[in-house]
Amino acid sequence: MFSNQNKGKIALISVHGDPAVEIGKEEAGGQNVYVRCCGEALAKQGWQVDLFTRKASPDQENIVVHSPNCRTIRLNAGPEAFIGRDELFGYLPEFVESFKQFQEREGTLYPIIHTNYWLSSWVGMQLRKSQLLKLVHTYHSLGAIKYKSVSTIPLVAKTRLEVEKACLETADCIVATSPQEEEHMRTYVSEKGNIKVIPCGTNIERFGSVRREVARDKLQLSPDDRVVLYVGRFDPRKGIETAVRAVSHLSSERKAQLKLMIAGGWTPGEKDGEERDRIGQLTQALGIENNVQFVGRLDHTVLPTYYAAADVCVVPSHYEPFGLVAIEAMACGTPVIASNVGGLKFTVIPEETGLLAPPKDDRAFAEAIDRILADPQWRSQLGEQARSRVEAKFSWDGVASQLGELYGDSIQQLTTEFFKHHFAG
Ligand code: UDP
Repeated sequence: MFSNQNKGKIALISVHGDPAVEIGKEEAGGQNVYVRCCGEALAKQGWQVDLFTRKASPDQENIVVHSPNCRTIRLNAGPEAFIGRDELFGYLPEFVESFKQFQEREGTLYPIIHTNYWLSSWVGMQLRKSQLLKLVHTYHSLGAIKYKSVSTIPLVAKTRLEVEKACLETADCIVATSPQEEEHMRTYVSEKGNIKVIPCGTNIERFGSVRREVARDKLQLSPDDRVVLYVGRFDPRKGIETAVRAVSHLSSERKAQLKLMIAGGWTPGEKDGEERDRIGQLTQALGIENNVQFVGRLDHTVLPTYYAAADVCVVPSHYEPFGLVAIEAMACGTPVIASNVGGLKFTVIPEETGLLAPPKDDRAFAEAIDRILADPQWRSQLGEQARSRVEAKFSWDGVASQLGELYGDSIQQLTTEFFKHHFAG
């Protein structure tokens, strides 16, 4: 249902995470889904939403219309080619210019700019220097946390940390997607600044639309097959290695029935292709290649079938500010075994909707998988409770209502400030 109300214009900026591209490959994951789904849900509620990103190929259209009142606009900033996020900073002034030109062409000024990831926050802070607007920001990932866990720190790290701090301290509102993320901002970034917790969401009609029996039939699984599912990008920090090693620790009786399905795309020769090769070699070295199936990138029309067919979904990330995959699986009635980190501690309630285990601890993951697979009745109960938790807390419509309220309040403040500025005294 679309609302007839016109609540106002919003620009969501996601310089490197294009909301209109295929999800599930390198550089295209949760952020892209967040921007696109928030945009569509907000548009349904009466906002006029434009999603801005960088044009990364001459084949890409400049404007993609997703639904009434929601479109992606691709702006020029640097060459029309893929540029990794760590190399994008130098092109941001051009992005700011392109954004301003777009506003001029359309004869509009966006009163609310909601930026995503630190690169876009820099764009937002620049725009605020020359026009009246309220700046809302979602980090998606914090440099201060990320750089603790990677072996090579990119050149841009110092700039990123400075920009993240400046943004937290000066933006009108920071949206933390979990209380854990808020705590991390306070501990590692700054005590100053205004934070509001509004979680990520999922499409609860889509995720949860396929019954388990139907899904298992579709995937041609026998009643005895036990499926552990991983969904996500091939990135070492996603911890696929932990899932693979966990499977190798299971008893031979358990392994005789077990499939570890790994969903996610990769490009040979790119970083995600290297991780895919590494994981493939690991399964061979551990002698479990027959238990592991690489099912490739799956889109959101088929993912509900995989989630519903699975006995358990694993999210073994080393760190996760939120982790959409966990709530997608839960929405499909599948319990989740996740790392005991970040937003996963918020979404997964241990012993109620799944289990938590320390990151990189493959023995603990193995034990958790074994516990759930050993008790199908408990598994179903965890799955039902998982679905209820997502319905209550994590629908996109619910998330969009909370964001809408924040934008509404911000517009009101902006109007008050405008009148004070122009008519005071
Ligand atoms: N995804 C997908 N197809 C795949 C693999 C992943 O559509 O083959 C989607 C997944 O459904 C989820 C997103 O990519 O919506 C990943 O988001 P998450 O927050 O879990 O991780 P991120 O990519 O942000 O690290």
